[in-house]
Amino acid sequence: MVILGIDLGTTNSLAAVWRNGHSELIPNAAGVYLTPSVVSVDEDGSILVGQAAKDRLISHPERTAARFKRYMGTEHAFQLGNRTFQPEELSALVLRRLREDAECYLGEPVTEAVISVPAYFAEAQRAATKRAGALAGLHVERLVNEPSAAAVSAHISEGEEDKVCLVFDLGGGTLDVSLVERFENVVSVTAVSGDNRLGGSDFDQAIAKSFCEETGIDFERLDSSRREMLIRQAETCKQALTAQPMVVMSVDDGALQASLPMTNEWLIRKCSSLFQRMAAPVRKVFRDAGMSPSELDELVMVGGSSHMPSVRQYIAQLLGREPTPDSQPDTAIALGAGICAGMKARASDLRELVLTDVCPFTLGVAIYNEAEPGRDRMSPLIERNSVLPTSKEGVYCTVRDGQSKVVLKVYQGENPYCEDNTFLGELKLSVPPAPKGQEPVRVRFTYDINGLLEVEAVSRKGKDAQLLLRNQEMTEQEVERRLRELSELKLHPREQEVPRALLARAERLYAMTVGEMREQVDQILAWYQRELSTQETIRVVKANRRMEHMLDRMEAYLGQDTLHDPFLDDWNQEDPE
Ligand code: ADP
Ligand code: MG
Repeated sequence: MVILGIDLGTTNSLAAVWRNGHSELIPNAAGVYLTPSVVSVDEDGSILVGQAAKDRLISHPERTAARFKRYMGTEHAFQLGNRTFQPEELSALVLRRLREDAECYLGEPVTEAVISVPAYFAEAQRAATKRAGALAGLHVERLVNEPSAAAVSAHISEGEEDKVCLVFDLGGGTLDVSLVERFENVVSVTAVSGDNRLGGSDFDQAIAKSFCEETGIDFERLDSSRREMLIRQAETCKQALTAQPMVVMSVDDGALQASLPMTNEWLIRKCSSLFQRMAAPVRKVFRDAGMSPSELDELVMVGGSSHMPSVRQYIAQLLGREPTPDSQPDTAIALGAGICAGMKARASDLRELVLTDVCPFTLGVAIYNEAEPGRDRMSPLIERNSVLPTSKEGVYCTVRDGQSKVVLKVYQGENPYCEDNTFLGELKLSVPPAPKGQEPVRVRFTYDINGLLEVEAVSRKGKDAQLLLRNQEMTEQEVERRLRELSELKLHPREQEVPRALLARAERLYAMTVGEMREQVDQILAWYQRELSTQETIRVVKANRRMEHMLDRMEAYLGQDTLHDPFLDDWNQEDPE
């Protein structure tokens, strides 16, 4: 059964499938890959999706909706004719169209999809995206972050070279900036940031307004269809400036008459605040990752607005590096989503590829605030940008003498006080009475790649409570199955084989050596254990490689003979794990 990879964009949506060893884009009925994410209700009540709907933005603005992705997961409603739609219903209509196009192209039914979303989409927006899938008859178990999809597609097309790359994705409505590391066969997002109110349409608006300003037209007093027309024309001019140095924007519809020449320099001047806003998330990802731009190997610019020479120039100057010339701004994410769909379907030619992602927000528990009782503080357990899947543990203590119950409140967010963060759920457990501050409770958060959080709390009373935060549409059986998957995950069985072998080797070296050499082994061992304890895939993989080199060198130094000392091997076997 084929799984569809979908880039559900603010402006345009595309679909791809993994077939015959590569990701293949699916053309729509018009034979093109990009389907505008626009929905319009016709006079007879039928629904138009895509280019036809986009064309009605000017003629029937009151019956047409665009850019609804900006409102995913909110209560915002769109009035189209005499019907209101939720953002997720409009998204579902786009998804249904993509699904029909795919079924037509592939000649078989499609019931499952992997959908890409901006990396910083919070829980509510992700849940809404999954519901949109369900409403379109698509089972959506996995969402993939857009930058990860772009990085996976770069990884597949360029081969397995180790690289740190910055994915800069400027679409029609959102900016998404991420640091992605590609190491051997692992693709891992290390930090994400963005601005979900900044995109190509802001340039269109700014150009249209500046055009009016300079030609003496009062933009705000135009009716909505004239404004939409000007914005559309501004977009055409903006796109023309990608291919030519100068363009003349002109309108003449009887009432309105004006024309103005434009260049990229003009555009940069008129949109300077938009450029400045691009820099903030770029700086933030480096700060979050504890890296400097000089450590960057590659700049991948995707999203339709990355075609703009002014944008490329601005980011290139900001980072002191040219973008990769052959990235495909319009299709990279969809191609990557297609690869992820192949991975989800367990395609045999993708077995080796591992994709890890990061948690875009911090998850933690409320702790008692002695200074201000009633204003609980946030104690983060899984920090923003932790690599997924992840499992982290914290130990907390009772706050009152003889306390017999502990209520654990789980929050999501970046603020120090819980009241400013999003409450996700709570869990109660009993503790044996003891003086305050002396009774420990161990709390473990496990967060999987599909966005499912499991919370476990253990007290000395042996009580083991469990709380599962799930998306609304999941059935009991589904939760059962995922719980099983999660408990398997905590063991990290395959990942732990290599570390265990390396630890055994180091311990053997320790036993073999004395003095300075032994001290050195001891230090390396401590470092390696620290790296392992981060549980971050890419760090662990790197540590493995370094550890192996160091052990190789030390063993070579000590000489082959001692390595296979039968006594030492015996000692190793007797030593319990
Ligand atoms: P989204 O991810 O929001 O769906 P896209 O990645 O498809 O958006 O990008 C759409 C945006 O890219 C639009 O604002 C469009 O004007 C802009 N765009 C597309 N092609 C070009 C081009 N050649 N030059 C400048 N801007 C372009
Ligand atoms: Mg996009």
